[in-house]
Amino acid sequence: MSKKALGLNTICTHVGEIKDEQFKGAISPIYLSTSYEFDNVDVKRYPRYFNTPNQEYLVKKIAMLEHAEDALIFASGMAAISHMFLAFLKKGDHLVVQNTLYGGTSNFIKEEFPKYGIEYTFTNGYDVSDFEAAIQPNTKLIHLETPSNPLLTVTDIKAVADLANSKGIISSIDNTFASPVNQNPIDFGIDLVMHSATKYLGGHSDILAGAVAGSKAHIERIWNVGKNLGGSLSDFTVWMLERSMKTLALRVKAQTKNAKKIAKFLDKNNKIAKVNYPGLKSHPQYELAKRQMHDFGAMLSFELVEGIDAMAFQKELNLIKSSMSLAGVESTMLLPSETSHALLTQEERDAVGISNQLIRFSVGIEDYKDLKQDIKQALATTKVSSLA
Ligand code: PLP
Repeated sequence: MSKKALGLNTICTHVGEIKDEQFKGAISPIYLSTSYEFDNVDVKRYPRYFNTPNQEYLVKKIAMLEHAEDALIFASGMAAISHMFLAFLKKGDHLVVQNTLYGGTSNFIKEEFPKYGIEYTFTNGYDVSDFEAAIQPNTKLIHLETPSNPLLTVTDIKAVADLANSKGIISSIDNTFASPVNQNPIDFGIDLVMHSATKYLGGHSDILAGAVAGSKAHIERIWNVGKNLGGSLSDFTVWMLERSMKTLALRVKAQTKNAKKIAKFLDKNNKIAKVNYPGLKSHPQYELAKRQMHDFGAMLSFELVEGIDAMAFQKELNLIKSSMSLAGVESTMLLPSETSHALLTQEERDAVGISNQLIRFSVGIEDYKDLKQDIKQALATTKVSSLA
């Protein structure tokens, strides 16, 4: 059967499996060796070269899910981002990067780029015109994130990819929030797609990993940097990631279904000032999200009305955990101002619209009625100092 004809769940379950020829076991064996025979063969296997059996096989699954020729897996999402940036940017080059994105990415750019002499501009917004306005003659890479963390803004992937292509600039995207189940940016002309695999690809809050997918030539360029920086993933975790990804589509679809209902429920509640979810008709880029996403995803954020302390509300939740990370099968919430975006100054957070009342919600696979009940009881029990 042609691999192109495979369905999403079949790809998740079977592509990238290593056949256990020796014992005929049902799952991939794990090869933990850091030392392989050297016999003048072309492939010199070594974990830091991203080419152990488990590494080589898992990237087939990731590449196929992202409609890419090839992929690389890394020790974290930040390792994936930093390797990707450093592969395509050198001293004197310029990066255009979306202003609303994961705090760790902006922090990496601001803290590390000056040391390498790499220039950068954060866009003023997430419209294609904002990206165009930020381009300089030395721009070599445009990086976007959609839907973005934590405001769920939606950027027009095709418009930005077309802009980059028309100027001979490489484009990259952080596809962590959507996952390949809900969005395939390469179909719109984006060159490189990266993931914090710690999130949906892993899906059980027990793996730290990252991935980049793209053309063979681009991945080879990142590999060349990667073998020097040494950010590859340990084979035990590679194996866990392959196992976890077998249920990726099942998990993400169940989470997305829940999120759509939760977003509508929150939207109608008078203690919630605002809900950010691309699947709500009131979302400013609802039509765009519908066009470029297979479905709207399982991440949302909302603002409590003034007078309800966001931290106190979170403490009243019984089922939904307060958690630093996201995208596990369990539902979690966090306050971006205290966690994911704590590295930004108050002014920087205000500038992009991350208020202290904002809560990010990673919707899990639990039964919708239980999630709804938990939120209801927490809203009912949290003390209200004054309602705006
Ligand atoms: N990109 C996004 C959208 C994220 O949310 C995160 C982490 O929260 C990262 C990248 C960084 O990934 P990691 O924590 O795996 O290094």
